[in-house]
Amino acid sequence: MKSMIEKTIKLGISTCLLGENVRYDGGHKLDRFLTETLGQYVEYVPVCPEVECSLPIPRESMHLEGDLDSPRLVTSRTKQDMTDRMVQWARKRVVELEKEDLCGFIFKSNSPSSGMERVRVYNGKRMPVKKGVGIFARIFMEHFPLLPVGDEGRLNDPKIRENFIERIFSLKRWREVLTRKESRGNLVDFHTKQKLLILSHSPKHYQMMGKLVAKAKDLSLKDLYQQYQTLLMECLKLKTTPKKNANILQHMMGYFREQLSSDEKQELLEIIDHYRQGYIPLIVPITLINHYVRKYNQPYLKQQVYLNPHPLELQLRNHV
Ligand code: SF4
Repeated sequence: MKSMIEKTIKLGISTCLLGENVRYDGGHKLDRFLTETLGQYVEYVPVCPEVECSLPIPRESMHLEGDLDSPRLVTSRTKQDMTDRMVQWARKRVVELEKEDLCGFIFKSNSPSSGMERVRVYNGKRMPVKKGVGIFARIFMEHFPLLPVGDEGRLNDPKIRENFIERIFSLKRWREVLTRKESRGNLVDFHTKQKLLILSHSPKHYQMMGKLVAKAKDLSLKDLYQQYQTLLMECLKLKTTPKKNANILQHMMGYFREQLSSDEKQELLEIIDHYRQGYIPLIVPITLINHYVRKYNQPYLKQQVYLNPHPLELQLRNHV
């Protein structure tokens, strides 16, 4: 059964990824992982920039052209410039989306409207350069700079998928803190539970956030919350690595110094090392440590989000 937190994660998504026939050719780009697997844990808010700015289905295809940093959105055959229409609509739409309390957005890759990166930009007769950003995607990311974003192409990469999903679940947890009364105690409580997760992404941010929390009394609550949120989202954007995870696993092992036999310690060390070397996925040492946490009822580790940051069924820690 899903918990409340899992049920209320809202994600923006390019409508065609949900299987809606909104593409220029009247087709869709259904992504089954997003609809059937991740879809069980999130509520999608669909956005199709081209249809929502009143273009028909089907319609002439479009592309980006001109300057890489501010390309025009132009129909491919008849060369109609749709940029102003799209920009005007997008600026209003992002303000509307503020009400949705989104925890992220999944864009359709390569689209001149929805692509978040590496979209082809044409310039005269030269080969297109794959360095553009779709018009809506750019305005969205500028409006919500801290929100996790991904596209269905890159989310096929297990490491990118793990990182993106971990961030949306973390952001949801943080938003739950924001629904409560602001207090230093609430923030410290949240931070304590996230410590190992933060450390697994960035030891540097772990230190900075630790210092921020330590001087919490010197800051106004508003500044404290704002600075903490920025550091949290910056930190989680950085990817975990086998080395960083292995350090944390060994650190956690230290909590069982008294309880584990030397055989059990040896076994756990070997498993951690096999994970570090890329022979087995992270879920293996995590499962064993979770077993010890339950068995010995270890109070500090029991509350660490790192041991259970997202639903097991998403299998995000099953890759090597
Ligand atoms: S890529 Fe974007 S604009 Fe194109 S059909 Fe999908 S949602 Fe609509």
